[in-house]
Amino acid sequence: MSTLLPQRLGVAAVAVRSLRRAPAAPGHQLHQQLRFLSLQEYQSKDLLRRYGINVQKGAVASTADEAFAVADRLKREGATDLILKCQILAGGRGKGTLTSGLRGGVKICSTPTEVRDFAKDMIGYRLITQQTDELGEEVNKVLVHEGVNIVKELYLAIVLDRSYASPVIVASTQGGMDIEQVAETDPDAIHVRPIDIDTGVSDNDARAIALALGFDDSCVPKVSQQLKRLYELFVACDATQVEINPFAITDVAPDAVMCVDAKIAFDDSAKYRQQELFSMEDESLMDPREAAAHKAGLNYIGLDGNIGCLVNGAGLAMATMDIIKLHGGSPANFLDVGGGANRQQVAEAFRILQADDKVRSILVNIFGGIMRCDLIAEGIVQAAEEVELKIPLVVRLNGTNVEKGRRIIAERMVNTDKKIDIQVIDDFEEAAKAACATIQSDVT
Ligand code: ADP
Ligand code: MG
Repeated sequence: MSTLLPQRLGVAAVAVRSLRRAPAAPGHQLHQQLRFLSLQEYQSKDLLRRYGINVQKGAVASTADEAFAVADRLKREGATDLILKCQILAGGRGKGTLTSGLRGGVKICSTPTEVRDFAKDMIGYRLITQQTDELGEEVNKVLVHEGVNIVKELYLAIVLDRSYASPVIVASTQGGMDIEQVAETDPDAIHVRPIDIDTGVSDNDARAIALALGFDDSCVPKVSQQLKRLYELFVACDATQVEINPFAITDVAPDAVMCVDAKIAFDDSAKYRQQELFSMEDESLMDPREAAAHKAGLNYIGLDGNIGCLVNGAGLAMATMDIIKLHGGSPANFLDVGGGANRQQVAEAFRILQADDKVRSILVNIFGGIMRCDLIAEGIVQAAEEVELKIPLVVRLNGTNVEKGRRIIAERMVNTDKKIDIQVIDDFEEAAKAACATIQSDVT
């Protein structure tokens, strides 16, 4: 899937772009800088319920037998159809394929036995959709829902939009399908309404959106109530995205709307005040390197190259990645140790870099300011003791306490029986070339 929509789509495109989901298959990471907590659909649905938003009845299951039990209960409570849904972080599940051979990650079933049989072909397999890579994402859980009779599928989302510097509500009558495709083929079908952050969703906003969604005036009160509650959740939970697709009109009444699918992402910067939400994150879905870095308090993003980078400052980290690329290497990660990292964290960073079996050499690029070169050097030495650095290391240190840093490394190189392959190089570009050369000699 393309990552950019045509410029002519303007604001709608900006809003729609920020709706992109973040697949996070272990070992096959999405290479993006912005990191938002994403919850599984069943967790998002629980949250919606708490805010009085209409969602189908149902519960999550980790085994086929548990899925059977939920289905059985829903049947006894009066459900006619049952819907079984794979829980992965990517969308497009309905049209996806499982590695068991099953087609469709969302199944309509009529009996609990059917639910159990399909669940057996879902749990433990990987689901490949338009939004995952070719390996798909592992399905560990399924959600069993009562079926609802959908009269019309609409699209509704609340996202932050830079061009308005505010949240916007994105609404479309073209629900149930990929919104990016709608944005490309029928941009006029997407309505974007900025919301004043000070006042929230006004009656006028809610009415305008309801009308844009094709409801008539008699439906406005109930639809607005749902819109306002969604917005309340968006603000109270520090969400960056609440996406409901489909936002469905059911056969109960013309204004009986229901959030049939939900995708919510949250701002990582709000972690300190959203601890309950963040504790729901499933770390098994995270890149294991990122999970370890996260624990150590390191700012790390996994990439798929072969040169590990340990840098201080995001700008220098970006420049380092660029220069590696320029000289024929490929960065294995973005890692900014910042100004506040301690020796243990630096050692942990080396451990994470070396644990990645694609990494053939490590380039350390430190411009000491707040971060002192001697502290980095001590981290390198500690890592060499504890982790046993086996791959070549190219170190470029400059700035605060650079002499002391170089001395620490030089002493370590002399007084040891555990040999480490370190080259200390003063010049940034020469250091990058040296790191890339280790790969080239590796290949030939
Ligand atoms: P995805 O977007 O990942 O494909 P959805 O949850 O949107 O997953 O499901 C795909 C489609 O399945 C929906 O657009 C809807 O048509 C149908 N569907 C999902 N849940 C239900 C339900 N509880 N009742 C009826 N139809 C449903
Ligand atoms: Mg959907």
